[in-house]
Amino acid sequence: MTWSPKRNTPDWHECLQKAASNPKLTLPLTVNSWCIHCRKHTILSGKRSMFIDSEPQWTLGFVRPLYLERRPICLRCQGLGQPEARFVPLDENIPSITRWNLLCFAKSFGKFDHHVESKLLDHWPVFSKMPRHPRMYNDSISGCTS
Ligand SMILES: [Zn+2]
Repeated sequence: MTWSPKRNTPDWHECLQKAASNPKLTLPLTVNSWCIHCRKHTILSGKRSMFIDSEPQWTLGFVRPLYLERRPICLRCQGLGQPEARFVPLDENIPSITRWNLLCFAKSFGKFDHHVESKLLDHWPVFSKMPRHPRMYNDSISGCTS
């Protein structure tokens, strides 16, 4: 594995794995995700109910790379006039990060080399798979209080 030369401008793409950071770690080849609000009621184009990411992107990390969340459009949210929502992995064991948060990371720590970034990302807080402000139409999660 080769390390990129030091960068001057933070670029979140540089915080993603180009090759496996840790060859002993097996990462899923596909990641299924759904709208954080609609969950099993998610509606995507083509009447799909989940987004299947066949080219998942992972952050650097030796023990716990984070899945970079995608942002497809949930037609259910759109139809209800709601803003775009995060898409989170169905698999509770897959930790994820938003593009925005990775950009924040790159701004703060992008000046370090990949080894340091990997160590930091291994301890970076994982994003919740539950919405911070559940929407009123969220009828898919019963018994869930905010
Ligand atoms: Zn939705």
